[in-house]
Amino acid sequence: MGDDAAMPRRAPSRPGHDVMRSLRSAGAFRQHLEITPEPATQVAGGADPVTDTPPLDGPEGKPALVVEHLTKRFGDRVAFDDVSFEVGYGEVFGFLGPNGAGKTTTVRTLGTLIAPSSGSAIVAGIPVTAKNGPAIRARISLMPESPGLYLRLTVAENLKCFAGLYQLADARYRIDRALQAVNLTDRANDLCGSLSKGLRQRVALARALLNDPAVLFLDEPTSGLDPVATREVHDLIASLRERGVTIFLTTHRLEEAERLCHRVAILNTTLRVVGRPAELREQLFTRYLEVRVRAALGDPGRVFNGLPDVDSWAQEPSGPYRLAVSDPDAAAPAVARALVNAGADILSIAESRHSLEDVYLKLVDEDVEAKRR
Ligand code: ATP
Repeated sequence: MGDDAAMPRRAPSRPGHDVMRSLRSAGAFRQHLEITPEPATQVAGGADPVTDTPPLDGPEGKPALVVEHLTKRFGDRVAFDDVSFEVGYGEVFGFLGPNGAGKTTTVRTLGTLIAPSSGSAIVAGIPVTAKNGPAIRARISLMPESPGLYLRLTVAENLKCFAGLYQLADARYRIDRALQAVNLTDRANDLCGSLSKGLRQRVALARALLNDPAVLFLDEPTSGLDPVATREVHDLIASLRERGVTIFLTTHRLEEAERLCHRVAILNTTLRVVGRPAELREQLFTRYLEVRVRAALGDPGRVFNGLPDVDSWAQEPSGPYRLAVSDPDAAAPAVARALVNAGADILSIAESRHSLEDVYLKLVDEDVEAKRR
């Protein structure tokens, strides 16, 4: 894997981003929650996978997060080591890694709850130092894995309590807006103790939105939720993404990261890789076309050997032919023509895709192997 994959910078911006960047430079990037939220039912089929990356710079042309050679040790134990990455405004950035990889400690460090041992970070435009802790905390929100709500208070009372801690002047307006954003307006007067785990998680999300955070840290937001509640939280995160909220999402759920995140990082004490899921798949794995025909080819070598963009081929035990290709789109038409010329009845020619889970397991397995050696 090249250095670009291991320590990437943000993708180049596109024309439409210039307008958004100037809006954000003018300080408008925190206006996203002003937009009336769409009901979750409109995306009930599940959040669409991300197809775009909006790596936007904020005021003064700086990204939302800049992390450089950051390390945290607890005595002899290294929680994470020499970690560097950037996150753009409006980006949903997935942070993945096995248990004990250092994810939560990274979030706690960026959230100024603990000090780094070495390296530097800039969060929402402010350098992470002990002195800057209060200013950074006022501009970010951190939603921990466990919601931590007062169960004997209502939803609205909980939010009022936290709005008071933030010393927010227009608390009532902000509470209404946050409840709308998570589709909980009609549950405002319910006791938190009477809510399901999924609804409590939505209250915690509303609480995290109260201060209009420049960066929203979500630590395993769907941990322990059933599939329906998980999907609701996914839909909410996707709707925040559509409104340009910058989200740092720690998760063990790879399908969640693939669905919600513009880019992902895989941490295993050191940062193993950062990139868009599709890029990571392409960097780590050979690309294949899977060819299905009605009857086995008499002489497959005569059909596939020498075709442009086809590097090698093999027949799978279950019947289909698997062609290693450099560019599936370029290879497929010539493969189809060669099959037709050979008199084969084509059932399908499709790229066989690796999942983000394949990428994750390959990297983490490599680490396990390296430790064994
Ligand atoms: P998980 O997915 O299980 O939550 P994680 O990736 O969030 O794991 P961390 O909780 O950040 O991992 O822990 C990273 C390492 O740092 C672990 O070895 C952990 O034991 C250690 N660690 C974390 N906090 C402390 C602490 N306060 N004192 C000592 N060691 C700690």
